[in-house]
Amino acid sequence: MVTKVQPDSPRTAAAAQPVLAGEKSSAEMFLVKLFAVVPALALAAAVPLAWGRGLGWVDVGLAAFFYTATCLGVTVGFHRYFTHGAFRANRALRIALAVTGSMAMQGPVIGWVADHRRHHAYADREGDPHSPWLFGTSARALAKGFWHAHMGWLFQRELTNAARFAPDLLADEDIQRVNRWFPALTAVTLLAPALAGGLITWSWWGALTAFFWAGLVRVAVLHHVTWSVNSICHMIGDRPFTSRDKSANFWPLAILSMGESWHNSHHADPTCARHGVRRGQIDISARLIRAFEKFGWATDVRWPRPERLARNLKDSTS
Ligand SMILES: [Zn+2]
Ligand SMILES: [Zn+2]
Repeated sequence: MVTKVQPDSPRTAAAAQPVLAGEKSSAEMFLVKLFAVVPALALAAAVPLAWGRGLGWVDVGLAAFFYTATCLGVTVGFHRYFTHGAFRANRALRIALAVTGSMAMQGPVIGWVADHRRHHAYADREGDPHSPWLFGTSARALAKGFWHAHMGWLFQRELTNAARFAPDLLADEDIQRVNRWFPALTAVTLLAPALAGGLITWSWWGALTAFFWAGLVRVAVLHHVTWSVNSICHMIGDRPFTSRDKSANFWPLAILSMGESWHNSHHADPTCARHGVRRGQIDISARLIRAFEKFGWATDVRWPRPERLARNLKDSTS
């Protein structure tokens, strides 16, 4: 179990905490495997089995809606806001981002943030929970590294210590509550598309196909897109910015990852609200943050600063 830090000296207390907080229980390990593997199997079965038979426009629309909402919950919420503090959010937006991010089925918010802060603290070095470079650089080692960075790391029992990496979230009662709601939000994210599909088509068959496509398959696609940022975006792509790790910009995933695949830019300037900082680099998450700012829900947004960009660029003439 994680312990709470003393309120009088949160920073010092957090820094003194160990990196790991013991191991996940067997029950937790079973659930992680279940929720990582079942949607993946649904995805593998989906294309050959159901294409053209079960898939209707209602399913496509619902899948796109739930994909967009939960992906942005992770990219804008879990990642840019909670992990890196790229902007300040009002209380309602803070809770809404924690809830929609949780509905991506990538684990509860506090653990997600703790793992990701550990990733940045040790990027591509010993201690990084999901670096593809920990086993060597031979073809065999890189294949193993790819698997580890993509999915394998999830199946390890070590538990990142939230008291060290996320004391700010542990100190927030509302966030603790959303964290505890994770099992319920998992049920909601799978059943809400089924309910919507059933009501729109007014049929059990419509509920079933929406559950399959906009529930399981959508979760699986988003899982693999998010995991690709950990695996592919630390192996393949351009590295225009200097950073101490192997992070890379991989343009083919820019749209599906909503801007997160501009990962070299992100590691060079982690607290920046925009990852696609160069001309023509589409970053849908940054657009949403801009909209939140216009509505007055987000403030103190850390937009890219030209002098910082120029300093981080490897070749300032390019
Ligand atoms: Zn990274
Ligand atoms: Zn990050």
